[in-house]
Amino acid sequence: MLKITTPITPTHVRAVERAAEMLRAGHAPRLLARGLYEVPSGTFADVAYRVEVRNVSTLAATCTCPAGGVGKFCKHQALAICAETRRVSPKRPARTAAEVAAAVAKMFPR
Ligand SMILES: [Zn+2]
Repeated sequence: MLKITTPITPTHVRAVERAAEMLRAGHAPRLLARGLYEVPSGTFADVAYRVEVRNVSTLAATCTCPAGGVGKFCKHQALAICAETRRVSPKRPARTAAEVAAAVAKMFPR
């Protein structure tokens, strides 16, 4: 588990929402090196951007896309930070469907 130590803004939330849309469309980030990802463009075929994750806890990353080039937190950075978080987080054993259902029921009691 990692702790986020920076304020979350609507820009971050929108980037994560757009990143989720990209994942559903099959645009997954590809690890190139520790903290360095290639993320396909969600707009242009055969275009990919490079994202360097500098600090997961502070959501610090850079991206070579037009938005990232002007310092905005973009969907590519959100995708790469999620992937980097998964990469560096301790692995837990997979839960059974019944365990997941029990956890969801506990979080959202009727
Ligand atoms: Zn970007």
